[in-house]
Amino acid sequence: MDYNKSAYELGSKRSIIREIFEYSKIRANEIGADKVFDFSLGNPSVEPPKEVTDTLIELLKTQSPTALHGYTSAQGDFSCRDKIAKNLNDRFNLCLSADNIYMTCGAAASLSISLKALVNDGDECIVFAPFFTEYRVFVNNAGAKLVVSEPEDKTFQVNIEDFEKKINKNTKAVIINSPNNPSGVVYTEETIVKLTNVLKKKSKEFGRPIYLISDEPYRELIFSGEKFPFIMNYYDDSIVCYSFSKSLSLPGERIGYIAVNPNMNCSKEIYLAVCGAGRSLGYVCAPSLFQRVVANNLDAKVNLGAYKENRDLIYNGLTEMGYECVKPDGAFYLFVKALEDDAYKFFERAKEYELLVVPCDDFGVKGYVRIAYCVDKKRIENSLPSFKKLIDSYKK
Ligand code: PLP
Repeated sequence: MDYNKSAYELGSKRSIIREIFEYSKIRANEIGADKVFDFSLGNPSVEPPKEVTDTLIELLKTQSPTALHGYTSAQGDFSCRDKIAKNLNDRFNLCLSADNIYMTCGAAASLSISLKALVNDGDECIVFAPFFTEYRVFVNNAGAKLVVSEPEDKTFQVNIEDFEKKINKNTKAVIINSPNNPSGVVYTEETIVKLTNVLKKKSKEFGRPIYLISDEPYRELIFSGEKFPFIMNYYDDSIVCYSFSKSLSLPGERIGYIAVNPNMNCSKEIYLAVCGAGRSLGYVCAPSLFQRVVANNLDAKVNLGAYKENRDLIYNGLTEMGYECVKPDGAFYLFVKALEDDAYKFFERAKEYELLVVPCDDFGVKGYVRIAYCVDKKRIENSLPSFKKLIDSYKK
């Protein structure tokens, strides 16, 4: 057979998260959905804000269907890009214009396009463990090699010393993700300053920029109310990959954007490379209806309180039992130390108690599992006795 082997391998090997999610459906059929505690998938459990639904209905009622469902410009509707640029300028004191924004089908497309626009075959791209597993796919697809930088013990902030060691003359780009999937950790301003200082030093040493890509689907999901250190205010050679999947609970609508820092070296050329990468990957003209919906709801917010309540319930519940985990300040994930070295064995044992958690070896940290607590609060409440039985079983 003459087909692309690496594409076949990707397609035939489902991600562990999808595997567990599929298993949970089968198990729910066998024993009842209320008895299976599935914490595998990062699918938002809170509804989109009411304004979002209202805008959608209003647009459908009042606008011409051919305009609503028709093509926009390849890089996205001007007025949508203009509103996003102005909103970011107001919030983070920037000077973006519509011509720095490229509309995409969510953060996955934002990342694939940005990497394709920035790296060449043989370049290296550094990611910080723990990291979203799909980075490996996107980085490799762009022709680059993924290099993993180890985290600080316990805090899961960036280990600056290790990061600096991982940079070499082939390093072309670095991806950060805060709030982080899978740890829920929000990088402090101190971390961002140290990280960007290293990048400035190394870029100067090599006489060319190392690009910083900030993957921010969880930017709006921060519980502490702390100011989010927006990367463009710390480092010029930066690109932001954003998505409304989690911030407006619209993952199935596939809508997000790329923002190219206007202060970066060759910013105009890089924006054009983004347009070209989008074109070559077939990611042009992001969903037209939802470009309009998000453009009118840039300040809308999901019910963050519900995620915070879940966070407190699961974090307090598990740590009181003796589980070890870093307290997450954002996103909707809890990163828990497995009760044995092998996270897969721990996952199998948890499964015996109908607890479906994700072993995190593929996220670049061994011996941990991820709990996605974007679920109904009842599921967390009902699961706690099983978590207790699980930890007790290790004490026997
Ligand atoms: N980046 C991170 C860190 C994610 O967790 C996700 C999805 O869960 C994505 C990117 C992809 O987001 P989207 O669904 O908007 O493509």
